[in-house]
Amino acid sequence: MKIVLQNVTKKFPSRSKGVREDVVAVRDFSFEVPDGQLIGLLGPSGCGKSTTLNLLCGLQKPTSGRIFFGDDDVTALPAEKRGVGFVFQSYALYPHLTVLQNILFPLENLKGKDRLSKEAMREKAYEAARLVQIDELMDRKPSELSGGQQQRVAIARALVKRPRVLLLDEPLSNLDARLRLQTREEIRRIQRETKITTVFVTHDQEEAMSISDMIVVMKSGVIQQIGKPQEVYDNPVNLFVAKFLGTPPINVFSGRIDGGRLMIGGDAVLAVPGLDDQEVWVGVRPEGFVLDDNGPLCCNFSGVEVMGRDISVVSTNAACENAAIRAIISAESRVDTQKKTVRFSLNPGKVFIFDRETEARIPFESI
Ligand code: ADP
Ligand code: MG
Repeated sequence: MKIVLQNVTKKFPSRSKGVREDVVAVRDFSFEVPDGQLIGLLGPSGCGKSTTLNLLCGLQKPTSGRIFFGDDDVTALPAEKRGVGFVFQSYALYPHLTVLQNILFPLENLKGKDRLSKEAMREKAYEAARLVQIDELMDRKPSELSGGQQQRVAIARALVKRPRVLLLDEPLSNLDARLRLQTREEIRRIQRETKITTVFVTHDQEEAMSISDMIVVMKSGVIQQIGKPQEVYDNPVNLFVAKFLGTPPINVFSGRIDGGRLMIGGDAVLAVPGLDDQEVWVGVRPEGFVLDDNGPLCCNFSGVEVMGRDISVVSTNAACENAAIRAIISAESRVDTQKKTVRFSLNPGKVFIFDRETEARIPFESI
């Protein structure tokens, strides 16, 4: 089931005293989720992710704009008629019901011709439970389950009616790091198996990047960029997106264009012919630094960090906004830890230039 948002805006009356302007939680959203894909809504807290999900499931109505599931305009359709499964961050399981009863719950609520026989309901509940591998736990109460198991029950409950659309609101944030990793792969597997069009909300860029076919990066209710995770990482449209994606984060320098050269401090780091002289922001991905004794960018050497397979050279530079510059280099590289400074040349494909005022990306061709 394809999902289409057409110029969807959601405003809330301001709750702050003396502020008359509405809060625009979601501003003019237009995007399409192709049938059977998993899309990640990504952005910092308060950017409108949950509101978008609530609009999709029908818990809230847009102030303007329309929502389509396939060719059906569902904008005015009540939540229970939309055929969506919703998983909340808090799981929201019924504590007094067993796992089986929790999963059965949406089916028990079906009325009239939609109502299934007891046997058919049980069968569907077990089918959903097997999908998330909790069919051995059906007689337990939620309090007798681990966080990860509870989350699986919530997913099974969302899947039991075979929804047209699955909506997941920060489903992994209550899990510890290892379980988070495991469960996100699980969600990906289930989504691939069921081919249910899925919208997955998270503030964790790594999570969104690893599981999504496509990501929508949002900030303050405004879509910044939509694309495949790698495309967005490689081609951020603005400084916000560049900073939001990537671990370790992108290194941001205050720089300027001077006579077709990109300058950081006194160092001419790249030739950028054709760009006007101006102040800019320069973003360099950690993998964009190349250790080079004759390289143009000179930084103060702080140390070396080994993180599993990766080696980071940590340094500082007066023009850098980050407290420390992290350059990821190959494990074979030799670093002279006695020196006070370290020199780099830059891989132009990993360097982004942004307008100082608007923070929009300025494309360049390096030679
Ligand atoms: P996210 O899920 O990305 O953290 P939300 O969608 O929950 O963000 O919220 C987006 C913005 O809308 C926030 O500024 C929030 O305070 C505001 N907001 C959300 N729901 C309501 C509401 N029911 N009434 C008023 N403001 C709301
Ligand atoms: Mg939220």
